[in-house]
Amino acid sequence: MESIIERINQNKFWQFHGGIHPPEQKALTSAKPIRQLPLPKQLILPLQQHIGRQGDLLVKVGDKVLKGQPLTQSSNPMAVPIHAPTSGSISAIKKSVIAHPSGLNELCIFIDVDGEDTWQPREICHDFTKLSQQQILKKIADSGIAGMGGAGFPTHIKVNTKPDINFLIINAAECEPYITADDLLMCEQSEAIIDGIKILDQLLDPTFILIGIEDNKPRAIKALQRATKDIEKITICVLPTKYPTGGEKQLIKILTGKEVKSGALPIHSGIVVQNVATCFAISDAVINDIPLIRRVVTLTGLALSKPQNVWALLGTPVNYLLEQAGFANEGDTPTGTSPPVIMGGPLMGFSVLNELVPIVKTSNCILAPSKTEMPSAFDSGSKEVECIRCGQCSDVCPSQLLPQELQWSAKAKDHQQLTKLNLFDCIDCGACAYVCPSQIPLVQYYRIAKAEIRQQQQLDIKSEKAKLRFEARKLRLEKEKMARAEKHKKAAAARKATMNEKSTNGGAASSAVAAALARVKAKKKANSKSSESIVSNDQNTELPVTSSEESDEKSQVKAAIARAKAKRDAKNNAASKETNTSDELPVASSEESDDKSQVKAAIARAKAKRIAKNNKASEDENTKNEMQEATSNKNNQENNTDDKKAKIAAAVAKAKAKAKAKKENAEPIPVSDDKKAKTAKATTAKTTTAKTDDKKAKIAAAVAKAKAKAKKKQTMQEEPLPIANNEKQVPFKSSNEESE
Ligand code: SF4
Ligand code: SF4
Repeated sequence: MESIIERINQNKFWQFHGGIHPPEQKALTSAKPIRQLPLPKQLILPLQQHIGRQGDLLVKVGDKVLKGQPLTQSSNPMAVPIHAPTSGSISAIKKSVIAHPSGLNELCIFIDVDGEDTWQPREICHDFTKLSQQQILKKIADSGIAGMGGAGFPTHIKVNTKPDINFLIINAAECEPYITADDLLMCEQSEAIIDGIKILDQLLDPTFILIGIEDNKPRAIKALQRATKDIEKITICVLPTKYPTGGEKQLIKILTGKEVKSGALPIHSGIVVQNVATCFAISDAVINDIPLIRRVVTLTGLALSKPQNVWALLGTPVNYLLEQAGFANEGDTPTGTSPPVIMGGPLMGFSVLNELVPIVKTSNCILAPSKTEMPSAFDSGSKEVECIRCGQCSDVCPSQLLPQELQWSAKAKDHQQLTKLNLFDCIDCGACAYVCPSQIPLVQYYRIAKAEIRQQQQLDIKSEKAKLRFEARKLRLEKEKMARAEKHKKAAAARKATMNEKSTNGGAASSAVAAALARVKAKKKANSKSSESIVSNDQNTELPVTSSEESDEKSQVKAAIARAKAKRDAKNNAASKETNTSDELPVASSEESDDKSQVKAAIARAKAKRIAKNNKASEDENTKNEMQEATSNKNNQENNTDDKKAKIAAAVAKAKAKAKAKKENAEPIPVSDDKKAKTAKATTAKTTTAKTDDKKAKIAAAVAKAKAKAKKKQTMQEEPLPIANNEKQVPFKSSNEESE
């Protein structure tokens, strides 16, 4: 089987499906050298000029910047930095319209150019072969290089791949009409381009290096052949002109015969494709330490008096470039608006609605056609008609899609069907629209559909991330809840085990509360016992016992009551007698009143003692000891008082007896016989009664004395041994209390 290289050496190439041959219109600019333009007054730099993410700002408004100074940076590999194309100051950082078919506004840095064009310090590399792969990759990444063929994919990612690369393909086809930027770059910077290819060779170490270039660029072909004549590894492949040969998959197909399937990348087939302008940028970055701050832009179209290729600084507004190219603002559109300006070629480009749109890393052409040159661009109204299902679009589609079905689904916004029809395999070449007899702007429908799907995908990704965060939070809360429940369960089990352990220790380890309750109960019991005045026979008891005192008090009270009763009886007897002799014996009444007062006094004392006793019995435990002592003293006093009372009663009784006897011996009062007889009889009765009373009184006095003596004796026996005052105040304690 014939090898790929053998076929190439014989100028045999494969064919890709479809394709068209539109008028080239390259002669407008291909013969003119690349022009260096004067510095514009202002540059507008979008933060994102590639596929990926924008970097973080390194500058703020008012900062002075030098040429080549980085303006953004990021650790995200998909973020590519941008640099100051010249020296100046940051006049604004705000949203502005960018070079995109949507015409959206994005964040841009506005630099007021100072005209000095002062470089930041640079480090020239005189021998890049001594650089390591990582050093080369870092230089490429730090220089902000992204694919300059139109896709804008970060180059440092594309070339940072594992070995086993069979083909490194340099895309020099530049197949779109009008555009000659790469052609002129190859003519003027072939050596630098070859240096860039060598750097890629050092990084990727491919088996073959193929430069694919269309045969409509003879000067560039010669320049490359001169630059590569001593490099066997590099093969220049001159391809037949056909649009879109410059498509990545189409170029791979032509050169290698391999087809990159839908959704796959060339690297999966061992192939890396780089644009020729990107190779120049790599060379500039690695060798000259020049970041990507400029590029060649084709200014073309019959509306320009000086169509040409120019070195345009990134951020240069389109209107400045058009002015430099002699743009004739004809104003001859039917609506009276400015004539159309297209960024890119006539097939893949898009209209620029605002001339302040800046040049970015992927901008390769500004086309300003005249009305005669491209009349469709001046039509304000659409001439689109219904699809006639001619199938010409399918015939020319290089991606072998069904353009008519795609446009139907795009109009219906059936994103699912569009995905099934492999919409994203469409390279926006515009070949289908170019051949469509119904003048349907097919590519415009595809671009809008792609943007809608990408936006929906972004929303879906955000929604999925939010859902994942919600699920993660829900799971975390559930875990925390379970952990808390487990913790509480363990704590409860530990408490239960502790209680069981205490209970199994037989009370020795019972709770402090239970012990305290037991002590309180014991104390109450001891207090109640002491209040009952139950005295043991133990002679070693130090404190006097209250019960004996109370019984003594009771006996005293009983004795007093007995005396009072005896006196009352005596008084009643005497009163009954005096009732008969009251007129005759007035002295008796005085004696009775004397007796009554004594009886009343005795009763009053007895009552007072009883009340005092009751009051004392209700006093608390702490005062009982004092009461006991006081009672003891009182007992002594009362004993003495009773003794005295008994003596007094005996003396009174004697006195009464003497008085009666004296009265009886006194001369009688002269009265009648009857009266005398009555008086004598009464006197005899009184005398008898007085004697009886006298005897009773004596007996009572003797009894009282005996009782008093007995009580005194008993009290003397029961009196406590002399102890210290503080010891007397010590209450009786149970053995339990003492154990505390
Ligand atoms: S070329 Fe146009 S008219 Fe023909 S099938 Fe395709 S979309 Fe329809
Ligand atoms: S624009 Fe898309 S659908 Fe149309 S021919 Fe090109 S690749 Fe095919």
